[in-house]
Amino acid sequence: MSSVRLQAMQSLQGEEKKVSGYGGKKITAMFGSNVFSGRTMREHLSDEAYKSLMNSAKSGQRIERRIADQVAVGMKAWAEERGVTHYTHWFQPLTGTTAEKHDSFFTLKSDGTAIELFDGDALIQQEPDASSFPNGGIRATFEARGYTAWDPSSPAFIMEAGMGKTLCIPTIFIAYNGESLDYKAPLLKSIAALDKAAVDVCHYFDKNVTKVTATLGWEQEYFVVDEMLANARPDLMMCGRTLLGHTPAKGQQLEDHYFGSIPERVFAFMQDFEQESYKLGIPLRTRHNEVAPSQFECAPMFEEVNIAVDHNTLLMDVMNKVAKRHKLKALLHEKPFKGVNGSGKHNNWSMATDTGVNLLSPGKTPRTNLMFLTFFVNTIKAVYTHADLMRASIASANNDHRLGANEAPPAIISVYVGKYLSQVLDEVESRVKDKFSEQDEVILKLDIHKQIPEVLMDNTDRNRTSPFAFTGNKFEFRAVGSSANCASPMIVLNTIVADTLKQFKKDVDALIEKGEKKEIAILQVLRTYIAESNPIRFEGDNYSEEWAEEAKRRGLSNFKTTPEALDAYVNESSKKVFLDNSIFSIRELEARHEIMVEDYIKKVQIEARIIGYIATNHLLPAAINYQNTLIANIKGLKDIGLNEKSYKAQLNLVEIISDHIQHVNDNVEAMIEARKKANNTEDLHTRAHMYCHEVKRYFDDIRYHADKLELIVDDNLWPLPKYRELLFMR
Ligand code: ADP
Ligand code: MG
Repeated sequence: MSSVRLQAMQSLQGEEKKVSGYGGKKITAMFGSNVFSGRTMREHLSDEAYKSLMNSAKSGQRIERRIADQVAVGMKAWAEERGVTHYTHWFQPLTGTTAEKHDSFFTLKSDGTAIELFDGDALIQQEPDASSFPNGGIRATFEARGYTAWDPSSPAFIMEAGMGKTLCIPTIFIAYNGESLDYKAPLLKSIAALDKAAVDVCHYFDKNVTKVTATLGWEQEYFVVDEMLANARPDLMMCGRTLLGHTPAKGQQLEDHYFGSIPERVFAFMQDFEQESYKLGIPLRTRHNEVAPSQFECAPMFEEVNIAVDHNTLLMDVMNKVAKRHKLKALLHEKPFKGVNGSGKHNNWSMATDTGVNLLSPGKTPRTNLMFLTFFVNTIKAVYTHADLMRASIASANNDHRLGANEAPPAIISVYVGKYLSQVLDEVESRVKDKFSEQDEVILKLDIHKQIPEVLMDNTDRNRTSPFAFTGNKFEFRAVGSSANCASPMIVLNTIVADTLKQFKKDVDALIEKGEKKEIAILQVLRTYIAESNPIRFEGDNYSEEWAEEAKRRGLSNFKTTPEALDAYVNESSKKVFLDNSIFSIRELEARHEIMVEDYIKKVQIEARIIGYIATNHLLPAAINYQNTLIANIKGLKDIGLNEKSYKAQLNLVEIISDHIQHVNDNVEAMIEARKKANNTEDLHTRAHMYCHEVKRYFDDIRYHADKLELIVDDNLWPLPKYRELLFMR
């Protein structure tokens, strides 16, 4: 009993489980207590500063330096009341995690007096010496100036870690020349583009609309495992997923975990991270078990997309921190376990007007129905036109293991709208020739708003296999990976819908100019859009083989791997849509593409190293050890004069073990050679493809033989915690 695995299992038995609970506290009492927003601002800011901050959050207007000084003073006072000593510009670089560099309020005046200082300058802009963040060649290190700049549309908050409290200021991260190096800057640009395009189209229906915001409600799936057990596995520790391990006899086939009662230890963890989240203003609503053993989900109420993205990245951070307190590990990886469901992060997306209308919610009158149809059809058309970009926006080394793995949508992008709306779309499309008559407004008199909720009540009409499904009053992008930054798909969705709406307005205006009545012109254009985007609509089973074939016939892409999928970022159509809507310059786009390709290479490279290391340093010695025991046993049996019949099984095992050892060893060596070849390849793109097709393919062979060894070798000698232990022991 000496291996780390066995020690971890022993300590699990003796572990005193941490209990949590709300201690009678109401959520409303703690909600937002660590956020500088609303009432807090009112209390700590002058009227003038409060109003300009609110105004800037709403309209994106610049904040004057003088006002920024006032805001900084108020923020500092509020933070200090809560025991904060440091502040940080909090940003989301392209590493996929969040970044912070803490500075203290404390400083020395020129005469040596110690003071606490935080002014407008410190609030608005910082220059972290952050030369090591990915920049895709935008920022050579000799000109390593990267700036963080305050995003007043997302409120500052206090992050508590242990006894420390830090004032965090949400910021964008840009190069010295303004080129973006993060997720937030392009997200904000895409939000502005959608706002402008959608407001213009809203004016066909309602002149009172002055602002349209994209809304996002994410659903976060994750696994929870014991920290000691996880740490006994170099793959889980370094890659967040198991690279080896045999499926347990009992996995998820009984589906007895889904919506079951939450295990106590995990429940304590959930309550703990929920409370931390509430303090940060993250409006969590639901928690439940997911399909796989040890898999769970939480989801908040939807929010404006910029805030929702910040909240999701914050939540992931909080989960990781709080899990440690419970000696647990939260696995946010898309596919931590082979043969067990992976984790996604559904992105529920819609658009809302400042007049309080959800633009994807069917209306009650013909006019509002037409408005709904307009935004509904434009979204479908956008996804049809830019399906490859949508696919690229969710591509990652991690998500490759999940997409199309029978429990997640495939890599083919399609749109599901449900039976009833399919009929509505078909009907609009089939209307007489090119002409609509006044009479055709009849379509819009259909009780769409009454029918849809009814249809959706009927669960059979909910297609859980679709990557992009309409769910009554929003679209749900289900192919997003659990560890992803939601900004990536949201930037694309906002941008392509903005672009489509712009074109839509041009098309409708052209018809109106020719003398067509407004409603008829809109219907005409919608009709052509519906007809055009027909191939993207799919109501059937997205997991089936037949769909892959059908999709091919329809001309839809099926990019199964990240290096292939990422290329869509830099094709002509993507360059145009990003450039036309001022989201990325060509240089920014190419740099971003390069960063993502590099990230892919690094991830596979690390996994390749780890799998080789585990196989060679952990598994083969255990197998040889056991083999030696068998050999000694055979010798002993021979010594006491028994014949071959009595040690036939042992002899057989010895041979089988040798065979597997040989295979593991050969494959590891071949993989190392393939890696060397890839590493010596100058061209990044080719290198990524080599890692994808020539290095990664050895993973399966190594795993196959290693997992066979796991089934044979004495359990006491096996060094890695097994699936059974990781997934079922708490
Ligand atoms: P489910 O999809 O599991 O049936 P719901 O339909 O209640 O659950 O909502 C799922 C998620 O969709 C929630 O996170 C919710 O906040 C979000 N959501 C609901 N309405 C909108 C909307 N208008 N815009 C964006 N997200 C929304
Ligand atoms: Mg859902």
